[in-house]
Amino acid sequence: MITKNSFQPALSAAFEEAVAFLGSLDEASVNATADVEELRNRLVRPLADTPLDPALVIEELVRDVKGGLLGMPGGRFFAWVIGGSLPAALAADWLTSAWDQNAALYACSPASSIVEEAAGAWLKELLRIPPASSFAFVTGCQMVHVTCLAAARHALLARRGWDVEARGLAGAPSIHLISSENRHASIDRAVRLLGLGTENLEFIEANVYEAMQPSALRRMLGAHEHGSCIVLLQAGDINTGVFDPFETLIPIAKEHGAWVHVDGAFGLWAAASPRYRALTDGTEGADSWAADGHKWLNVPFDCGYAFVADAHAHQASISARAPYIAESATAHDQIDWNPEWSRRARGFPTYAALRQLGRNGVAELIDRSCEHARALVEGIGALPGAQVLWPPLLNQGLVRFGDRTEEVIDGIVAGGEAFFGPTTWRGLRAMRVSVLNWQTAEGDVQRAIASVEAVLQSLIC
Ligand SMILES: *Cc1c(COP(=O)(O)O)cnc(C)c1O
Repeated sequence: MITKNSFQPALSAAFEEAVAFLGSLDEASVNATADVEELRNRLVRPLADTPLDPALVIEELVRDVKGGLLGMPGGRFFAWVIGGSLPAALAADWLTSAWDQNAALYACSPASSIVEEAAGAWLKELLRIPPASSFAFVTGCQMVHVTCLAAARHALLARRGWDVEARGLAGAPSIHLISSENRHASIDRAVRLLGLGTENLEFIEANVYEAMQPSALRRMLGAHEHGSCIVLLQAGDINTGVFDPFETLIPIAKEHGAWVHVDGAFGLWAAASPRYRALTDGTEGADSWAADGHKWLNVPFDCGYAFVADAHAHQASISARAPYIAESATAHDQIDWNPEWSRRARGFPTYAALRQLGRNGVAELIDRSCEHARALVEGIGALPGAQVLWPPLLNQGLVRFGDRTEEVIDGIVAGGEAFFGPTTWRGLRAMRVSVLNWQTAEGDVQRAIASVEAVLQSLIC
């Protein structure tokens, strides 16, 4: 029989496993050790007719996923752009589930709304966003782009006398999007979802520093009607960590009445470090900004931040109403700013992360990650058969092992000591080195370099 007392054993089983899993990361393989067939054999079963004891469900889940999880929260995971979880953030994330609040409205969960208000203000301060900007806590940077570009679409068309929320896009004045070839692919999907059409995305070739060229931007903007463009800039390219020259580009965009959106999924966090802050100079002049909590802030997944300078455009494009919604006159009703209706109270983990770290702790996390990224790229680059393609400006770098790059990456991953991923840059296959986990330490860097060395030696012999 399942009763209210069933929480205790189920949650205890989860707690035991969580602590054991996190404690095993230093020793366990970073790579998965179970293959697709094995996982299917264990997990894909006919739906049972009868109930199961909740604690048993958890125990069997733990047993059946064994070997199918990556050591992603640990210190030797350097693929994609993936952070870990700070202890306070993870604990607050558990409570978010236990409290099970629908954080759609202040009335629906007062504390959830106020926590987002507090964390939103802290984030604006750290990330150099003008204080009057509106904000939303969404699932990740992908939905941040959708939210911010919905506001952009509203503003650009409203200024030209077109109510896009009422009339739609058919017959509307045109919108052009100008981006760099290095943009993150989530931009393209946001453009598709909003009906803006990827054929209206135009690309500026990067210069030798991998950043957008001012003269090219000016030329492209000049080819379109004033006030018809969205300019998509990057604070932190996923391969090179490069930042666009905001101080030069944003004034040019503004001269042409463009909306400027900054994709700073991980890179905008540079603003929180005195050492790297100058990389974000000029970003304050943008119209909207995207950043992730689940990357460099080390909040568990399901956490991105949208910021919009024109709060009216943000609200006009996103807000929803129904007769049963009780609006607050004074507090932050998330439904006015978030594309979701029912939603997780995802402000709690961010609030906890920022309380755990404080301003100095955030800066220290950024600086430390960058030092480890540099040490990794230098250490790997010094090995026979390796070449540094791009030393980190921030926390992302690229190395290459001639035409055996794929083979070397596969060998490292198979070894289970460290995890890196491939990318293609300037037409070359490369291995990306990305560091954003608070747990990565000097010893992890040395272990990772040693594992690369071992693979290189085995391939030479
Ligand atoms: C990760 C990333 C995204 C996508 O963010 P999600 O949080 O995965 O949705 C967009 N842009 C950049 C630069 C990124 O690094």
